Amino acid sequence: MKVFNSLTRKPEELKPLEGNVIRMYTCGPTVYNFAHIGNFRAYAFEDVLRRVIQFCGMGVKQVMNLTDVDDKTIRNANQQGKALDNYTRTYKDAFFADLKALNIQSAEVYPAATDHIPEMIALVEKLMEKGVAYKSDDGSVYFNVRKFPGYGALAHIDFDNQRTGARCASDEYDKENVGDFALWKAWEESDGPVGWDSPWGRGRPGWHIECSAMAMKYLGESFDLHTGGIDNLFPHHENEIAQAEAATGAKFVNTWMHCAHLKVNGEKMSKSAGNFFTLRDLIEKGYTGREIRYVLVNAHYRTGLNFAFSALEDARKSLERIDRAVDALIERIDPSEEAPAFVAKALDDFTSAVQDDLNIPKAFAALFDLVRETNASGTKSQAVLDAFRRMDEVLGVIFFGKKEKEDIPEEIANLLKLRAEARAAKNWAESDRLRDEIATAGWLVKDSKEGQTCTKK
Ligand SMILES: [Zn+2]
Repeated sequence: MKVFNSLTRKPEELKPLEGNVIRMYTCGPTVYNFAHIGNFRAYAFEDVLRRVIQFCGMGVKQVMNLTDVDDKTIRNANQQGKALDNYTRTYKDAFFADLKALNIQSAEVYPAATDHIPEMIALVEKLMEKGVAYKSDDGSVYFNVRKFPGYGALAHIDFDNQRTGARCASDEYDKENVGDFALWKAWEESDGPVGWDSPWGRGRPGWHIECSAMAMKYLGESFDLHTGGIDNLFPHHENEIAQAEAATGAKFVNTWMHCAHLKVNGEKMSKSAGNFFTLRDLIEKGYTGREIRYVLVNAHYRTGLNFAFSALEDARKSLERIDRAVDALIERIDPSEEAPAFVAKALDDFTSAVQDDLNIPKAFAALFDLVRETNASGTKSQAVLDAFRRMDEVLGVIFFGKKEKEDIPEEIANLLKLRAEARAAKNWAESDRLRDEIATAGWLVKDSKEGQTCTKK
């Protein structure tokens, strides 16, 4: 499979440095709030990436960190008078529930920053020994970017014109403010009860060192793949490279991949513009995790995604089309029927699309070719069903035999019961009204000779 490497700015073959397993690090959430759909665009991209790696016959070891100590988590926890771990737990739990709703596969390891403070201190000590880090007057430790000649290689920064020589104490800053960045931050009044003892006094790690330390702990000094949203590229990933490579002298990561921005109705998502959505907001509006996933993955990861409610409506229709074709195929399957010619073509098209830098829009086109041919031919072939399953290993949006798998919630079961009674009384208006009410809650009712069947939309 080929992927676009942000470091070399070229498409390159992705193959493991060792054995048959891709070692992959993903910058995870800062657990100071519910993640928004822009964040989930990146996590959905990374999910598709790990699925494609497996689809291509390789294994994957993915590490996704949880940033549970940084400027924002400390600020919010202290404002609310909560212990840091107590404050962040709510958002950690919510994050995992959201991943499940979006059918995102679990990473192999989810290390939390607060569980790895000794590893971070050890890495800072190593950078001090190497002479690339220094302690400032206030007890903080900074990375001296002038001492690391490769600094700026990822973000392609022209230092001669930009380097200011200033220090950046905060975790986030832009390219115009390139300077020495904090590895360890001395305790301040506003940190309240948050802090750890270190050789430089009480304090806490900077955000960037967290990822370098945890990545190397679980994946080694050199590994295959590092991903994140495009926002992470600078300064976060640039700093991760500097910290790791200055400490080890080895190349930190072979391939870097970044997911483009998400906009809502053509505008940058912001709370003040009223277009800021968490996953929960959309589910409350009646959309399902499956529909949201469909929209998030069905755009090329390197192009901006313009999120609109009309796209969710289109996703609902597209998924209904896929469901109808797959359901009908399951019902008529005949094991003795041979594979029709169109299966191999659809699978080939699908495979070359996903192997070409995750061209998911093209992969969906191959899926819809298969839907069309399946319906038109009335095939009963198991090979066609297998092809749908194979494609869904990557896409993760198709329900197979969902009638058996899904538990119908009690409120929906009650509505179904009322609807059955209305139908028995030939009260068709009430029956239709209840069907609409059930649909609004995200479930689809169908009537047959045996009665009602209900499936999640
Ligand atoms: Zn990170």
